[in-house]
Amino acid sequence: MTAAGAPEAAPSPVVELDDARFARRGLRLFLKRDDLVHPEIPGNKWRKLRHNIGPAREHGTLLTFGGAYSNHLRATAAAGDVFGFATIGVVRGEEHLPLNESLAYAESRGMRLAYMDRTTYRRKHEPDVVAALRERWGGFYLLPEGGSNALAVRGCAELGAESAGFDVVCCPCGTGGTLAGLAAGLPPGARALGFSVLKGGFMDAEVERLQSETYGERRGEWSVEHGFHFGGYARTSPELDAFIGDFAGRHGLVLDRVYTAKMMAGIVALAERGAFPAGTRVLAVITG
Ligand SMILES: *Cc1c(COP(=O)(O)O)cnc(C)c1O
Repeated sequence: MTAAGAPEAAPSPVVELDDARFARRGLRLFLKRDDLVHPEIPGNKWRKLRHNIGPAREHGTLLTFGGAYSNHLRATAAAGDVFGFATIGVVRGEEHLPLNESLAYAESRGMRLAYMDRTTYRRKHEPDVVAALRERWGGFYLLPEGGSNALAVRGCAELGAESAGFDVVCCPCGTGGTLAGLAAGLPPGARALGFSVLKGGFMDAEVERLQSETYGERRGEWSVEHGFHFGGYARTSPELDAFIGDFAGRHGLVLDRVYTAKMMAGIVALAERGAFPAGTRVLAVITG
């Protein structure tokens, strides 16, 4: 533990891939295996939770929000179990029994689950909704949906600082917290490239908002690709499934279809389109 109460994080490994689609254009492709950064709390969820653990322990209880298949709820439940604070997960929509695998896991790690109708859920961060939650659950430390707050951005900036020596550093974007921190933490000369897994053009504004909340200004060189959501959040397509199978065959790594597969399909497409000049060293962050 550091003085601030945040547990230590060792750097995650970087590996170079031998991939003809990059080699023939004079590009080099590396993976940052952030999925291996913590044994129980994978990838960017660990980066985002790390600095929130101290305040959560001080309050004793952390309350957060997520969809029924949320990686964030799973990771937060595990963190509460490992680091000794209670967790409440407010789930979008109605309860469905038996619990799906994600929520069953969260509950098995001690998370108390509560359900919120979709209309209220859309307003979940507004003062009257939060006040009602405080009335029901008592004092808690509130972590926004997806775990993206200023402390999360600072944790992801450490990922940027660890990613020195590359020209373009890529990550998938859900709430934009990972890109906000990654871009802020990169050394000068490198740029961050996010791949939105959601339809709609709001990601840039979210990343900018999170950077302002954290630093009071926009930081680093970054942009968002909007052409690789494959139909929207958690949507897939035969093309994306084929890409995942092909990538596993080439490199022995099964990409997650919600996030990292969309990023990687985007990186390959951009490389094939000639979007990166020869000599570019591309680092793809495997966020989970
Ligand atoms: C949650 C998640 C993301 C999205 O990160 P944001 O900070 O919300 O943009 C990306 N990749 C994986 C594997 C995730 O679980």
